[in-house]
Amino acid sequence: MARFDSNSDEEPPSGKKLSRLVSSPPINFPNVNSKIRNRPVNFRQAAGTQPAMAATASDPMPVRMIASEARRKVVRLRTTARTSPATVEFRRRYFPDVTEREWRDWRWQSRNRFRSLAHFERVLELSADERDALTRGGTMLPTGVTPYYMSLLDPTNPNQALRRTVIPSTSEFLRFPGEADDPLGEDGHSPVPGLVHRFPVRVLLLALDFCSTYCRYCTRSRVVGHGEISPNNRLEAIFQYLEQATQVRDVLISGGDPLALGEDKLDWILGRLRAIPHIEFIRIGTKMPAVLPQRITKELTQVLRRHHPLWMSLHYLHPDECTPESRQACERLADAGIPLGSQTVLLKGVNDEVEIMKSLMHKLLTMRVRPYYLYQCDPISGSAHFRTTVRKGLEIIEGLRGHTTGYGVPTYVIDAPGGGGKIPLQPDYLVGRDGDDLVLRNFEGKQFRYPDPEPDLIPADPQC
Ligand code: SF4
Repeated sequence: MARFDSNSDEEPPSGKKLSRLVSSPPINFPNVNSKIRNRPVNFRQAAGTQPAMAATASDPMPVRMIASEARRKVVRLRTTARTSPATVEFRRRYFPDVTEREWRDWRWQSRNRFRSLAHFERVLELSADERDALTRGGTMLPTGVTPYYMSLLDPTNPNQALRRTVIPSTSEFLRFPGEADDPLGEDGHSPVPGLVHRFPVRVLLLALDFCSTYCRYCTRSRVVGHGEISPNNRLEAIFQYLEQATQVRDVLISGGDPLALGEDKLDWILGRLRAIPHIEFIRIGTKMPAVLPQRITKELTQVLRRHHPLWMSLHYLHPDECTPESRQACERLADAGIPLGSQTVLLKGVNDEVEIMKSLMHKLLTMRVRPYYLYQCDPISGSAHFRTTVRKGLEIIEGLRGHTTGYGVPTYVIDAPGGGGKIPLQPDYLVGRDGDDLVLRNFEGKQFRYPDPEPDLIPADPQC
């Protein structure tokens, strides 16, 4: 992602630049004057000659929430079918100087992420708990939210679904039995750094550890956002391993978010994988269309379409993420011939209701994304406040199956702790056996019989 300087839009991040980005200054949580905190936001009053916010010297605000009067341009904000009304309003209020071109530039969005208490409190009315969590810091995962995604958050309600997923709470500091930093045991199945080889024919390639927006329930909190995975110094070793591992036919590129890499770097990675004859199937896992849809540029899709067959798993949580911008991003990917599947984590207080999940699945289908997996939340350390019961997940699947199109029903899975892989879960539609009949129930609870005699009871020739 990430543009690391402002003058070379087409230049992909080099490893050096990338590591500079991911190892950006540790989050510093200054105390903020309550007068500043509580006043209506008007950054124009704080205008100075520097294009940075008057937060603290050590923790400048993203970009141009302030600008000098001399530099100020009147930027006309348009509401179009391709723009969320909430986003238009947010821009009008907090980024009045930012041009349409800048706002739509994924590198600008990335550079201007909200990352600290000083940033968040200028656009959100923080609860005491959020403030406490941001002040204490020290969770496994840094904070980061793109301006675009921030525009979708409710500024006053800390319980809003999207807000809960990106603004930390003190619940992250609590540890419960069964939780682990690496619940899927990935580190124990890593033959070379950055590669997880747990199943014979498929591997997980962690291309980088940077994400534009950090999800508070991230399974890879232990590595994501820490600036330790630089793509340059480990990819060559990964490719060499894969060239020897002739049983591998399927590579999932994840991270962090692989689409945070520039086009050249992605082109190179995909090209290297495509050059390995036994690798037939390449997938990319990304949350960009939801948190930074501006990343899905025509330049990106031109690169991706060079490496077909290529599949993508898109991380969506809630129907509020299905904005016009996000829809356009998915359309671009689909138009590039990339089959799109969704991945959704079941989260308490976020999407653990049938109607919310149904709405999300419906919207994804209209965005040409096939609902693929619904994950039971992994028991990552500090995730208890997000985890529902499995019964809740089954209830949601039962509320979808038969009540919407079959294409709208994802497969509900538990990724088995310790590295057992995905185990599918279904409501129990098999009531039992009655003689040669299976007794089944349908989505309405009605019972039906299906003839299913044991094989040795079936006559060899029913005509005899
Ligand atoms: S986008 Fe994926 S890798 Fe990044 S923080 Fe969210 S869940 Fe973790």
